[in-house]
Order: sequence, then C-alpha cells, then structure tokens
Amino acid sequence: DEKIRIRDVGKVYGTTHAVTALEGVDLDVMDGEFVCLVGPSGCGKSTLLRMIANLHRPTSGLVEIETQRPVPWPTAMVFQDYGIFPWKTVEQNVAFGLRPRGVGKEEARRRVAHWLERMGLTDFAKTYPGNLSGGMRQRVSIARAMVVEPEVLLMDEPFAALDAQLRRLLQEELLAIWQENSRTVVFVTHSLDEAILLGDRIVVMSARPGRIIGDYRVPFERPRT
Ligand code: ADP
Ligand code: ADP
Repeated sequence: DEKIRIRDVGKVYGTTHAVTALEGVDLDVMDGEFVCLVGPSGCGKSTLLRMIANLHRPTSGLVEIETQRPVPWPTAMVFQDYGIFPWKTVEQNVAFGLRPRGVGKEEARRRVAHWLERMGLTDFAKTYPGNLSGGMRQRVSIARAMVVEPEVLLMDEPFAALDAQLRRLLQEELLAIWQENSRTVVFVTHSLDEAILLGDRIVVMSARPGRIIGDYRVPFERPRT
C-alpha cells in the first residue's frame, strides 16, 4: 500500500530573495519501506522531509500520508543535533510527545519503560542529556520518536555527527528496530555508503533546483548487518 504520496511538489523559500528549494518532485513511498534520500548539500532533502513531517508546507503540489488516525499527523522526526531538551531528564524527554497525543498515564509509563529498555537507557532514566555521550543522546532521540508509535519515522542525518564505530552500531540498531516494528522510514543522508547499507530504496536528488534524478529499489532481500 502507498503510505506517502508526494505529487508535483515545489517549495520556494522567502519572497524578496526567493530560493527554489524543490521543483516538480513526485514520490510514492510504500508502507513499511525504508527509503534513503541522498544528494549533495542544498538539494532539498531536509525541505522534503520537513514537508512530510508537516513542519513546512509545499508552495505547490501535494503531500499526503495515508493513515487510519488522521489526528495528529502520524510522523515522528529524529534530527542530527539530537533536538532533545537539556533541562529534562532522559525519561522526561522520551515521554515528551505522549501527553499532547492523548496517551494516558499508564500506557505512557508502559511505553516509556519499553523504549528506555529497548534503547539501553534504563539506567540513565533520571540522567540529564548533558551528561550523556553523543551516541546515548541519539538513542534518546530514537526512543522519543518511537514511543509515539509513528506510522512514518523521519530521520535527518541522524548519525552524521557520530564517529564511524558508533555510527555503525546505531545503524544496526535502527535496522533491527525497523524490522521489529515495520514502520515506514524516510532517512536523509548525504552519504551514499549509508544509503546503500540502510535503504531498500534509494532516491537520489540534485540541487538548483532540488529534483529527484534517480530512484532505485533493491530487488531482493539481502543481509544488511
Ligand atoms: P516556511 O514558511 O516553510 O517555514 P520560510 O520561508 O518562512 O519557510 O523560512 C523560515 C525562516 O528560515 C525564514 O525566516 C528564513 O529567514 C530562514 N532562513 C533563510 N535562509 C535559510 C537557510 N538557508 N536555511 C535555513 N533557514 C533559512
Ligand atoms: P539539504 O537538506 O539537501 O541540504 P535543504 O532542504 O536544507 O537541503 O535546502 C534546500 C535549499 O533551500 C538550499 O538552497 C537552502 O539554502 C534553502 N533553504 C532551506 N531552508 C530555508 C529557509 N528556511 N529559508 C530560506 N531558504 C532555505
């Protein structure tokens, strides 16, 4: 089934000094697909991701997500710079999105405990993010995104700031989580290596204006870790 439908999407930023970030973008993402968006800096990867997240609106065209629960928007996002609150504990950070989504206390407690455990964070529940390594902070970000049980997980260069060994470890954990939870994932990276490792589909973009210039599906099951 189609999960995300992007039709002839354009995005222009600003008015006086207008920047055309995207032009004529068409993309359908299937339910459960792991799509990597790859391309040089400035080709509009983040812009496209933010439109799927409903953080930006397209200037023209259409972005739709097929969902059984229309409110709220069924996506969660993980950023490169963690985007977690330094004044909240790990546990409070992970729980953050639940109340606005109407998740009750008991259910919230269950889900937070599950995702702390799953991401190896249980012992750090009461710790503040400033006392954690970059890799642990990014685990908090992933837990915080997964705890809301998003239908679509959006990731914007989540591992770009990590060293090679840690990046590899978190890539493997992410693939395991994806296989356990069968979410649709759209993963932005400027690394073709990373895209080939993670994606079962790789969408290539070019800049000025941002467009899709290639779309490759891996036509067979293969071991990725
Ligand atoms: P949207 O309406 O989709 O939020 P805007 O065009 O309002 O997008 O841009 C948001 C803000 O980001 C603008 O106020 C703009 O000044 C600022 N901005 C300008 N250039 C850049 C850039 N290259 N990268 C990120 N933000 C920028
Ligand atoms: P990528 O993620 O591939 O590096 P972006 O989506 O961040 O690309 O940016 C695409 C283009 O849009 C770039 O030229 C960038 O400078 C411009 N841009 C991105 N965000 C804004 C903004 N908020 N305001 C103005 N220009 C922006």
